[in-house]
Amino acid sequence: MTDLRSDTVTMPDDRMREAARDAEVGDDVYREDPTVNELEARAADLVGMEAALYVPTGTMGNQIAIRTHTDRGQEILTERESHVVKWELGGIAQFSELQVRTLDGGERGIPTPEQVREEYVEEDLHRPGTGLVAVENTHNSKGGVAIAPEKIDAVAEAAHERDVPVHLDGARVMNAAVANDVAPERMVESVDSVMFCLSKGLGAPVGSVVAGTEAFIERARRTRKLFGGGMRQAGVIAAPGLVALENVDRLAEDHENARALADRLAEIEGLGVQEPETNIVLVDTEQTGLTAEEFLETAADAGVRGVEFDTHVARFCTHWDVDREDVVEAAERVGEALEG
Ligand SMILES: *Cc1c(COP(=O)(O)O)cnc(C)c1O
Repeated sequence: MTDLRSDTVTMPDDRMREAARDAEVGDDVYREDPTVNELEARAADLVGMEAALYVPTGTMGNQIAIRTHTDRGQEILTERESHVVKWELGGIAQFSELQVRTLDGGERGIPTPEQVREEYVEEDLHRPGTGLVAVENTHNSKGGVAIAPEKIDAVAEAAHERDVPVHLDGARVMNAAVANDVAPERMVESVDSVMFCLSKGLGAPVGSVVAGTEAFIERARRTRKLFGGGMRQAGVIAAPGLVALENVDRLAEDHENARALADRLAEIEGLGVQEPETNIVLVDTEQTGLTAEEFLETAADAGVRGVEFDTHVARFCTHWDVDREDVVEAAERVGEALEG
């Protein structure tokens, strides 16, 4: 079985398991876990921010950042297909009690600065006031597109003109950095906070990071505790995360494998394949007469797993547990299964 459902399915390698076993640990709620402290320092350094906070999941990281930036009853501006709106169970409403105002970010899922200026509302007797702008890079639902840092800068500038902070859901921002051929630091230069996942393409078994200013992270630490994310001897899981931080450059391989997979899938009659920019391949199944669900069942019977993204859209994701041979063979098997 070739599992291309997500880059979260990777298994920790021997080095990560050894790092977990050998990790020096302490109680991280007391800030006494040297491994977590090191991870937070190195993660902050990687994105060029003052401080960072280790969190159990990307979802919790986003929700902590949103809650920490805002006051109850404000509005958040975010893209209509963004993960924070679409895939986090309405957490923005449940945890932060915000009203969501969505912007259509078009094919690349990035709103324009004009949209931000237009949709911003100033707090008064009738209006809630815009408390946060959230953007996403790479944009998952749009097929892992790697948004250029200048586009993020433009949105951030529009928000900052009105003193509105900007959070970047950068679950795969390292993929965006590699695809744009810039340092991770550059990808987050103009935002106030970023969340990125260690447990996706970077290969760690658990964990994500939120980064921002010292003052922001100090408050985010309290929010993490509030959300039940204060962990104790977390160095055991943070140690593989430290190893994962070294895997940024390796993501280029996933991107090449995604392109190889896409090229081959595109040769299959009836499949519409979006050209990948990173490690995500979106496949439109409509011309085959199959729904994404039916297509994925056929693929699974042939030993290839993906996930349904829409009625006629399936997603495949490359990661470090699959190599070039695996993806080439996967495409062949899908082709044969559809013809058969
Ligand atoms: C995966 C993902 C998340 C959430 O990460 P989890 O660790 O699965 O909670 C958030 N945002 C985006 C864009 C993602 O792809």
